[in-house]
Amino acid sequence: MNKDWLEKDFYALLGVTKDATAAEIKKKYRTLARELHPDKNPGNAEAEERFKGISEAYDVLSDDAKRKEYDEARSLFAGGGFPQGGFGSGGGGAQYGVNVEDLFGADSGGFGDFLGGIFNRGKGTAPGTRQPRRGQDLESSLTLSFDDALDGVTVPLRLSSDAPCSTCHGTGARAGTTPRMCPTCDGSGQTTRNAGGFAFADPCVTCKGRGLFVDDPCPACHGSGRGLSTRTVQARIPAGVKDGARIRLKGKGAAGERGGPNGDLLVDISIAPHPVFGRKADNLVVTVPVTFAEAALGGEIAVPLPRGGQVTVKIPAGTSNGRTLRVRGKGLRRKDGTIGDLLVTVEVAVPQKLSSDARSALERFAETTADHDPRRDLFTLAEGAQRRAP
Ligand SMILES: [Zn+2]
Ligand SMILES: [Zn+2]
Repeated sequence: MNKDWLEKDFYALLGVTKDATAAEIKKKYRTLARELHPDKNPGNAEAEERFKGISEAYDVLSDDAKRKEYDEARSLFAGGGFPQGGFGSGGGGAQYGVNVEDLFGADSGGFGDFLGGIFNRGKGTAPGTRQPRRGQDLESSLTLSFDDALDGVTVPLRLSSDAPCSTCHGTGARAGTTPRMCPTCDGSGQTTRNAGGFAFADPCVTCKGRGLFVDDPCPACHGSGRGLSTRTVQARIPAGVKDGARIRLKGKGAAGERGGPNGDLLVDISIAPHPVFGRKADNLVVTVPVTFAEAALGGEIAVPLPRGGQVTVKIPAGTSNGRTLRVRGKGLRRKDGTIGDLLVTVEVAVPQKLSSDARSALERFAETTADHDPRRDLFTLAEGAQRRAP
């Protein structure tokens, strides 16, 4: 990671918002680059400096991976230099005169290791384990607009997860007090019972397996040490995501404990339908009405594009109803960065009402083509099939 990233606001340099789409960023960069290009501003040092700035900004923001890294670096250091989540975020443990994060950190040794070992008991962790614990995977769902799904988008998601109680920082004790080692089990969280020459370990009833005894419980969590944390993560949804897809955002789940890695965030995607465009694999599909004359004589028609604007499509003479024409490079962005095609299906539109001129023109057309019977082969084939049937 580049240290400069923390000081430079690339979004501000390009004049886009933090959730701008790749297309918006590209457009803005192109406009600015044309305006500030050194060829256009000879001898203008300020323009040159700005040109360098926007080029650097675009270099990072136009690359999905770099942009993600940049966003994460910025959000990580925005809150005063500490990663969000985990133990003791925000004034952690000041009243104990010891940073709770140090207590829970891996390999802290001494007192920290002792307390950490005790805290780690219960909540589904095998007794005696002191290993770092990976955070939970969290699930969320998201409905995207058709357009956002085309090019990808970054969406803020509000998440709630199980976390150390923010009032007592996970100790379960009222502010100003500390829990002490459970007198019943001496902090092991277990009591041993002998039966028939065998020793059985049961969870300690005094501390419910936590190994800690709280004289004066924290009023927020009633001594459990657990609470809910609500936070917002920026979910980067890749371009071309499919309806019904489940996206795994690595490390965006619940915070890990004792230096363990964060869990992942799983996002179930649904995509709102578009009134005009549909999707088929990497391609976009659109059905376009044409007149009988256009289909028969050929011509050029304008077709709207999913990202705005239009494209001219050539209809070959003698085009059948339902024929699909391919417009290259106007479909979905694929994982490798290439773009799929727009598939245009023509649909011959039959007029509901005819003027008398149009009617007589059509009648004249019918007379001139009376010797052509489009159903002749149909009968030949049908009878042939009947003869072959047993
Ligand atoms: Zn508490
Ligand atoms: Zn106990």
